[in-house]
Amino acid sequence: MSTLEIKDLHVTVETEDGAKEILKGVTLTIEDGSTHAIMGPNGSGKSTLAYSIAGHPKYTITGGTVTLDGEDVLAMSVDERARAGLFLAMQYPVEVPGVSVSNFLRTAKTALDGESPKLRTWVKDVNGALEKMNLDPTFSARSVNEGFSGGEKKRHEIAQLDLLDPKVALLDEIDSGLDIDALKVVSDGINRFAERDGKGVLLITHYTRILRYVKPDFVHVFVNGRIAEEGGPELADQLEAEGYDKYIKADQQEL
Ligand code: ADP
Ligand code: MG
Ligand code: MG
Repeated sequence: MSTLEIKDLHVTVETEDGAKEILKGVTLTIEDGSTHAIMGPNGSGKSTLAYSIAGHPKYTITGGTVTLDGEDVLAMSVDERARAGLFLAMQYPVEVPGVSVSNFLRTAKTALDGESPKLRTWVKDVNGALEKMNLDPTFSARSVNEGFSGGEKKRHEIAQLDLLDPKVALLDEIDSGLDIDALKVVSDGINRFAERDGKGVLLITHYTRILRYVKPDFVHVFVNGRIAEEGGPELADQLEAEGYDKYIKADQQEL
C-alpha cells in the first residue's frame, strides 16, 4: 500500500519583492492505489505543488505536512524522497548532455535500489519499456532529452516510470505538447502503471483531453494556490463544458 497525504500545505517562492505565497493551504490525500487529477488554469500553482512534494530547493514550505505511508516527506532530501517511492515527471524535462538514456536509467535504478540491476535482465527490461512507449531500441544511446521532440521527452518519462516503479507518480502536464498518437501511448503507459498494485498517481493537467484516456478516481480543481472544488470523473466533464471561469470568479470575490 502507499498513501501520500498532503495537509494544509503552504509554500512561498522568493521574488524581487520578497517572499510570495503560491500554495495557500492545500489538503489532499492520495489513498492507496488511487488516481487523482489536478486541473487548473495556468499560474494556479500546480507545478509548485509537484515540485514542493519532490523537494525542489526553489520552494519554501512555510506550513503544513506531507507524508508518504506516514513518513515525513518534507524532512527528506530529494534523493531520499525518490528512494521512499516518489517519482516526478517534470513539465519541462531537463537535458542531460553527454549522458545516454541507458546510463541515466541504470544510474537512477542503482540509486533507488542500492545495487546495480543485473545486466542481462536490465537490458531486456529497458528495451521492453522503450518498446512499449513506441521508442526504438537505438533511443537508449541518445543523450537524455537532448534534441528530443516533445513527444519523445514525455514517452521517455513514462518509460522511466515503468522501470523505476515508484509508489506514487507525480505527473506534471505529461500531456502538454503531445499529438494524439503520443497522447494515447503515454496514457496507456500511465494506465499500466496505475493498474499495478497500490500505485498512486497525481496527474496534473490544464486540459481535459488526457482524461478521456486516463480515468481519474478523483478530480480536484486548483485555483490560486487552493483546491476550489473536488469530485469524481464527472467534474472533468463539467470543466470541459464550462472551463475554469466560475472558479476563478469565485476566488476573486473572496479577496
Ligand atoms: P502552474 O503550474 O499552475 O501554471 P506554477 O506553480 O508554475 O503554476 O506557478 C504558480 C505561480 O507562482 C504563478 O503565478 C507564477 O507566476 C508564480 N511564481 C513561480 N515562481 C516564481 C518566481 N520565482 N517569482 C515570482 N513568481 C513566481
Ligand atoms: Mg492504482
Ligand atoms: Mg505548471
